[in-house]
Amino acid sequence: MSNKTALVISAHSADFVWRCGGAIALHADKGYDVTVVCLSYGERGESAKLWKKDGMTLDTVKTERRREAEKAARALGVHDIQFFDLGDYPLEMTREAKDRLVDVMRAVQPEFMLTHSKFDPYNADHMYVSQWTLECRAIAQAWGHKPGEKVLGAPQVYLFEPHQSEQMEWKPDTFLDISQVWEKKWAAIQCMEGQEHLWHYYENVAQNRGNHFMRNSGGQSGGRKSTHAEGFQSIFPRTVDEL
Ligand SMILES: [Zn+2]
Repeated sequence: MSNKTALVISAHSADFVWRCGGAIALHADKGYDVTVVCLSYGERGESAKLWKKDGMTLDTVKTERRREAEKAARALGVHDIQFFDLGDYPLEMTREAKDRLVDVMRAVQPEFMLTHSKFDPYNADHMYVSQWTLECRAIAQAWGHKPGEKVLGAPQVYLFEPHQSEQMEWKPDTFLDISQVWEKKWAAIQCMEGQEHLWHYYENVAQNRGNHFMRNSGGQSGGRKSTHAEGFQSIFPRTVDEL
């Protein structure tokens, strides 16, 4: 029996850490092989601290962001991290890149996928990636695309929490308790040296979502204690036998 799998599609090289690092570490602990695809390094738009240093070049920033992402991936127990290096601000997904992402979806055959919110007026890269993920998921399911390959099933797509949730038309319907792997996520967050200004912000987000996990699991009448959690919005209906 091969391991269960999950696939994360991240616009820039740090998004997977802030937004679903806990889910990655938790599922890795449960024996899942988690693959992360970083479509870009966030080299132009999400690396301000590096650009403020003298003599910085695009290649140096990319190398540094890749090093940070690989270190964070190790801290989270990521099985495989792939960098598509498509550029950012703007991130542009060529037909070739879409085919490559479809290939990854088919190779991984994930139980679920994680990606960005559908809308993001601050960062078009993020919302395009959300659309491309759904587009590539549909292509990966198409029997006429590279006939003979194993097609993709119907993995749930969870949209992870964006930076300013209220502006993104993002509404969580799932809270995942990440208390037991918080130290791993915190270690991964601290690998993102180029974005130190976000470390404590995302610690606070996780603590607040932990409170919401408790509230929604019964609150003071027996709710499960959670110190840290992550919120997700699912795209597809669940198919169940009992409610
Ligand atoms: Zn980003």
